[in-house]
Amino acid sequence: MTTHRILIRGGDVLTMDPQLGDLPAGDVLVEDDCIAAIARDLAPGDAEVIDARGHIVMPGMVDTHRHTWQTQMRAICANWTLNDYFNGIRLALCRAYNPEDVYVGNYLGALEAVNAGVTTILDFSHCNNTPMHADAALDGLAHAGIRAVFCYGFFDSGASSFTTHDRRVADLERISATLSPRSLLTIGVALTEVGLLPWPDTVAEIEAARRVGGRIAAHTGCVWGSQVCMGVREMDAQGLLGPDQVHIHCNALGDDEWAMLARANAKVSISPETELNMGMGAPVFGKCRQFGVKPTLSCDIVSLNSGDLFTQMRLGLAYARFVDNDVINRSSAMPDQLSYSVRDALEWVTVNGAMACGLESKTGSLTPGKQADIVVLGGDSFTMRPRPDPAGSVVFQATAHDVHDVMIAGKLVKREGRLVNVDLPRVLDRAEKSASGILSRVHATAPSPLPLPATVANQFAALVRR
Ligand SMILES: [Zn+2]
Repeated sequence: MTTHRILIRGGDVLTMDPQLGDLPAGDVLVEDDCIAAIARDLAPGDAEVIDARGHIVMPGMVDTHRHTWQTQMRAICANWTLNDYFNGIRLALCRAYNPEDVYVGNYLGALEAVNAGVTTILDFSHCNNTPMHADAALDGLAHAGIRAVFCYGFFDSGASSFTTHDRRVADLERISATLSPRSLLTIGVALTEVGLLPWPDTVAEIEAARRVGGRIAAHTGCVWGSQVCMGVREMDAQGLLGPDQVHIHCNALGDDEWAMLARANAKVSISPETELNMGMGAPVFGKCRQFGVKPTLSCDIVSLNSGDLFTQMRLGLAYARFVDNDVINRSSAMPDQLSYSVRDALEWVTVNGAMACGLESKTGSLTPGKQADIVVLGGDSFTMRPRPDPAGSVVFQATAHDVHDVMIAGKLVKREGRLVNVDLPRVLDRAEKSASGILSRVHATAPSPLPLPATVANQFAALVRR
């Protein structure tokens, strides 16, 4: 087999590798699926050359929590609280999804991520009403060519074909066995919210994940005044916390719980846009810093907000700076320096994200030997030229439109601003049909518009109050 070489030439390279740093006008040589070299003036030889002069070259970004199946419900939660979301999406719409809908959501959502330079997602997949739903979710990710941790969720929306929780959890092993070690997809578990199940069932979910060597993602500490989504103390007491866990949101945790997460080297995912809009509390950048936990970022739900990590970096950085500046302002003074830099924000979506997904040996930085997950940003746009500070331009200015090329495991999935081998109008038509089908099935059994009024279905609120 001959080696396929691609030379990405002359870009401003932000490697995010602490040893390599930044390399202005640098070259990145890709051989097959790996990064072979990063240096100035590499000889192209027989390589295909991508001219990146005037562009920024950086690692593909990592989103550590996205409910990709919800993509065709775009912005339906625009004015919903978290409680409305549970009633409207998790209980009503989820029940109306068939496997084709899950496929469409995951395929379109993964393409949206790739288009915005996100090459790895942790797919928190909790619309698995039947085994076919889970198969369809995986197919959607695979067809989009994205790298993903497929976190199989065991949530029972009320439309499940599984007759017991044990049978649902057992389906994880079937799905896990379908993934080859060479696949871009790895296995994980999306825990049912702690408190919605008898505790032994939560323990069974955690143990099942560890039997298949999967990542464990959990919504943690995001429902105030409730025991739902807590459980850090219980997990700590039973030795169940670990470095293989991604705890998402964590806004309502106390300092003792933060100390437990830090001691276990558990990972944390922050969704600034969802949290700030839905009443989940303050994004936990300060707590991460206080307890030595590396923050990661996530888009969570495009059924509410944006599906790109540029927006999450901007909101997250602005919020983190605001909190520290506000303390100084309140003493009638101005800050001498800012407490977070754009470099911090870039780490949240690259090296830190890869580590949370357990993929730090494969992705998260431009490092020879790692997989070639690479983004080239730039071109003639208001946002990318001129740009005296490339890292600043990425964090504060870039949009998905500025993502020129995207490579995953050495394969170009976006080239010169267009997704490769994707008929986008056709995919969007399919998503429109799926969305209207789902909504018509929901409205056949529940009043319009969503969210459902309390008298019809406030099941989650009832659970939370329990
Ligand atoms: Zn979530």
